[in-house]
Amino acid sequence: MAISLPNLPYAKGALAPVISAQTLEFHYGKHHKAYVDNANKLLAGTALEKEDLETIIKKTFKNPAQAGIFNNAAQVWNHSFYWQCLKPGGGGTPKGAVATMIDAVWGGYSKFVEELKAAGATQFGSGWAWLVLDNNRLKITKTPNAETPIAAGLKPLLTIDVWEHAYYLDYQNRRPDYLAAVIDKLINWDFVNSALA
Ligand code: MN
Repeated sequence: MAISLPNLPYAKGALAPVISAQTLEFHYGKHHKAYVDNANKLLAGTALEKEDLETIIKKTFKNPAQAGIFNNAAQVWNHSFYWQCLKPGGGGTPKGAVATMIDAVWGGYSKFVEELKAAGATQFGSGWAWLVLDNNRLKITKTPNAETPIAAGLKPLLTIDVWEHAYYLDYQNRRPDYLAAVIDKLINWDFVNSALA
């Protein structure tokens, strides 16, 4: 099966002013699309061509000979997941099962936000900040470049892209401002709760 570019779950301007239409034009329309196109080019004619995306990611992880396939396939997965983690009018204090679990681990939403922001802000260079389920316990983590928790068998619940292409047009070098605005105004907690189920 060829890897495909999923539709965005909202219009390109729907996340403005937190994330502009122009950022989504490039980030989704150029960067995400290029990962899809490159992955399909690199997979053509290989034994992995017919596998699903998650299998391709797991089978090529930490294999230097297949780094090109891993990087593009993992970036396809990460971006498809990231778009679903956002929604217009989202963000702020969560409800439901994830809220209970956040309280249990961090003792409240504000400590959780502090740690999530720190994960994103301290990822040196390109990468991702994550909320994952690790043995039924919530954990905040970060990955460099294309790396993704699914390669290590963890269950992602939420991610924030901290590559410069995710925020530079709107925030220039102010990555912490981008993180704060996304967490406060865009996180799709309904999606996070559905990922938990
Ligand atoms: Mn990106």
